[in-house]
Amino acid sequence: MPIYEYRCSSCGVQQDVMQKMSDAPLTVCPECGKETFSKQLTAAGFQLKGSGYYATDFKDKPKAEPACAPCAAAGSCPAANGGS
Ligand SMILES: [Zn+2]
Repeated sequence: MPIYEYRCSSCGVQQDVMQKMSDAPLTVCPECGKETFSKQLTAAGFQLKGSGYYATDFKDKPKAEPACAPCAAAGSCPAANGGS
């Protein structure tokens, strides 16, 4: 089920709301009760909450990139050799 990001233009509260695609969009802000709650046009709907950081962080980086390129090039990286 997709998660939509909503924002209230009155009090500025943001909330991720899990909804079916067929559900009517919310309009009433849960914080201030005004009908200024609206769905934001973002790609956040397809990120799982809590994993958004990784999804965006890895999007434009190759996964095989070492943590520290200079060390890896030299063949002696403390972080890569059993670092916790
Ligand atoms: Zn509000």
